[in-house]
Amino acid sequence: MTTYYLLTLGCPKNLVDSEAMAMLLRREGFYATRNPDEADILIVNTCGFLQAAQEESIEVLRKLAAGKRRGQMLIAAGCLAQRLGEQIIQCVPKIDGVLGTRRWMEITRLVRMLQHRRRRERYQLLGDPEVRLEGAWERPPAVGGSAYLKISDGCDASCAFCTIPSIKGRLHSRPIAALVDEANALVAQGAREIVLVAQDTTAYGWDRGERDGLPRLLRALVRQVPGLQWLRLMYAYPGHVTDAVIETMAELPPIVHYLDMPLQHAHPDTLRRMRRPAPEHALDHIEKLRQAMPDIALRTTFIVGYPGETEAEFQTLLDFVAEVRFDKVGVFEFSPEPGTPAASLPDQIPDEVKAERRKRLMELQQRISLQRNREQIGRVLNVLVEGHDHGISYGRSYRDAPEVDGLVLFPSEASIGEIMPVRVTGAMEYDLEGEPVHMTYMEKLQKG
Ligand code: SF4
Repeated sequence: MTTYYLLTLGCPKNLVDSEAMAMLLRREGFYATRNPDEADILIVNTCGFLQAAQEESIEVLRKLAAGKRRGQMLIAAGCLAQRLGEQIIQCVPKIDGVLGTRRWMEITRLVRMLQHRRRRERYQLLGDPEVRLEGAWERPPAVGGSAYLKISDGCDASCAFCTIPSIKGRLHSRPIAALVDEANALVAQGAREIVLVAQDTTAYGWDRGERDGLPRLLRALVRQVPGLQWLRLMYAYPGHVTDAVIETMAELPPIVHYLDMPLQHAHPDTLRRMRRPAPEHALDHIEKLRQAMPDIALRTTFIVGYPGETEAEFQTLLDFVAEVRFDKVGVFEFSPEPGTPAASLPDQIPDEVKAERRKRLMELQQRISLQRNREQIGRVLNVLVEGHDHGISYGRSYRDAPEVDGLVLFPSEASIGEIMPVRVTGAMEYDLEGEPVHMTYMEKLQKG
């Protein structure tokens, strides 16, 4: 029995690739272990997006390499493997195989090559795959009733700070039929919520010339995946949120009234230097989304300290956030990624200024998040239960995406993966408090 240990770093898209790799390994008779010391094959699905993530990936590989025993093989897979290629072996000489993020479906081929190698040959599978796995990917049971569905890979945009297109390549959308099959399998294994992920979900199908690709996919998933209760859209691109997408979201109930749309900035000059769409696109989308779905929860992310960002440009961003009042905001300090146009721009901002601007923007958003959460008090929200802690259940409403947003806390022993109505009774900056609506009179008395 040959065992493998697979560790995933980075984003939900990497998680989906790892889950699919695990299934391919299992199909070929390899067994998973959670203990690297027991494993014959060590695989790290690395992240190569930002400097910090790269350092973490190298650190993890070095640690496994240090504990590597005779006959054990170490494979570096994922985005950093793709980004560095041969170089990653110089960073961690005990690496035996390198598998680029676009070729995860060849994990068993690489393992076989290493199992049959002469002496201590190393192998690398990088670049575009010879054959894409176009069908539904086998996936393990959903955790906590929620699962990600990766609808495409790669990106055709050219944001000046981003390495993704050079790592993931051009946009490639997966077939609708395969996604419907995969979603059905996930729901059959307990998923109540499916979260659509990609580099740009709103460009789905554009590589096939289908301008209405995403609305078509959403309709297919809603119509052909019975049992699907929540369908959530992440990673929308400003300028790509068409009226058809908004109408489809508003019309089909399983699609939750939530949208994650990273904007990165709000000042036209900063956005121009970022090679990102002008702010009018975002404002247009936000207005139409709120008109079509007044209860919509909006999430976005911003980069502060981008080269050349003046105090006036930053103030414009603060004013924009104060005016739009997003429900959820993530803030990143600009990281000059080698090989990107932004890394060689003049007027790089000092780290202490980046940190100070991040702090100011987060503080502003904390006040707004608290106000937005207070507006939920008295509402009954359906909550997907994700866990318990000392008699308190926690979960997410339609307003919260997994891993990045807040929680709803309420006294109950409801089962994990169940969706249940909760009346909101209290609000914090990121989380809500509530009580199960089905609470009987006696339970209310006991709760006091
Ligand atoms: S859309 Fe996203 S993934 Fe694509 S280049 Fe821009 S930041 Fe990178």
